[in-house]
Amino acid sequence: MRWWRRYSECRKSLGSAMADSRNLYQEVILDHNRKPRNWGVLADATHKSEGLNPLCGDHIYLSLKLAGSNIEAVRFEGESCAICKASASMMTTLVKGKSQQDAEQMVNEFRDMATGKLDTSKEPHHLGRLTVFAGVRDLPTRVKCAILPWHTLHAALHSLTTTSTEADADPLQTPVIGT
Ligand code: ZN
Repeated sequence: MRWWRRYSECRKSLGSAMADSRNLYQEVILDHNRKPRNWGVLADATHKSEGLNPLCGDHIYLSLKLAGSNIEAVRFEGESCAICKASASMMTTLVKGKSQQDAEQMVNEFRDMATGKLDTSKEPHHLGRLTVFAGVRDLPTRVKCAILPWHTLHAALHSLTTTSTEADADPLQTPVIGT
């Protein structure tokens, strides 16, 4: 086979792989917006936080129920754009049943993926299906929409009642309390 044919086939398969990941991204966003998982407020929450992204107008409430260091239940609600809502919905499904430490690791990995510091196609991670959000790193205005639920989870785990993507201090740098 001539090199240029191989090249063009390679280009083609790369192109369709990228189209697949875009389609998957759109499907996930649509699905979680139509049917957000774990929507609402936990009546018996042990930890709560409110997250704001003034740049987009995203405003979410997150409530958690911890048993020891295990996240037994988690719910969210609020007004937000589709990316924020899908990210929050997916986050709740993935951190439920996890330890606080594992959830914090996902917070850091998600933040690193969304800001382009972690290449999930090459480096080890624990993000699973959340890698569909890797593409937001190329959309600077949407990065904060995708990260807000994770900021809010971090804040809730540290008993901070409010967090904002526009806070002076990076909320993810808040020292760990009680561990
Ligand atoms: Zn948003």
